[in-house]
Amino acid sequence: MDKWPIGVFASIDAGLGVKLEVVRELGIPTIHLHAPHRSTRTPERARSFLETLRAMGVKITVVFAGFEGESYADIPTVARTVGLVPPETRKERTQELKEISDFARLLEVDAIGLHVGFVPHEPTDPLYQEVVAVTREACDHCQHNGQRLHLETGQEAADTLLRFIGDVARDNLFINFDPANMILYGSGEPIEALRKVGKYVRSVHCKDAKWAANPGKEWGREVPFGQGDVGAENFLRTLKELGYTGPLTIEREIPEEPARQKTEIGQAVRLIEELKARIG
Ligand code: MG
Repeated sequence: MDKWPIGVFASIDAGLGVKLEVVRELGIPTIHLHAPHRSTRTPERARSFLETLRAMGVKITVVFAGFEGESYADIPTVARTVGLVPPETRKERTQELKEISDFARLLEVDAIGLHVGFVPHEPTDPLYQEVVAVTREACDHCQHNGQRLHLETGQEAADTLLRFIGDVARDNLFINFDPANMILYGSGEPIEALRKVGKYVRSVHCKDAKWAANPGKEWGREVPFGQGDVGAENFLRTLKELGYTGPLTIEREIPEEPARQKTEIGQAVRLIEELKARIG
């Protein structure tokens, strides 16, 4: 793969990504795919989907897990509903994550992305040890499928995330760095965080956001890439410094406005092409 191929977050029948038609129209060569519904995750569907993507010249670089019952309505709701942290749903979601990993293997994808949820900040919290244990279990399953597990950034400050990765102690555990999430959740200045966790970054989201008045208490506001507080150019320059050469995957989550979503993703593609030409 060339250095810094452009990507976009896409969905087929579940999740907030853009539809494949948009990927085709914009001529984008790579995608992060939101895992499809369980009924779609069959060997037959995997084969035909792979054929479609090959014909389009599109490569899936990460399959992202998502679960029934997750809500990003506000920060406390995320803490209560997202990922493998909530104890009530952990067992069935861990099982589903393994199924998603198996499906991704059929799609010849070597990385699984995951919002693990809000990792407790205190390692002495019993919940912290439970989340460490379940993440190990997830890593080991992915390892068996020849895959890495990429933790989506956002909920944790960089130092908390580093300690967590150290405690899980699996060498296929890495990071999908989403700079906008650091702002949306109020968990730290994104470029500073990127420098701290850089050695674990194996995929990124080109997403942007504006800080909330009370970061961490209320949501920041997602805006088109290049128009928020991330600093798109600084983001790419920092990735270059860190030696990151993987895909630059645009994420813009406004599925309720597909026309605007497509326009803004097209603008992000042009911005990234421009920045690549200048600094890549
Ligand atoms: Mg993201």
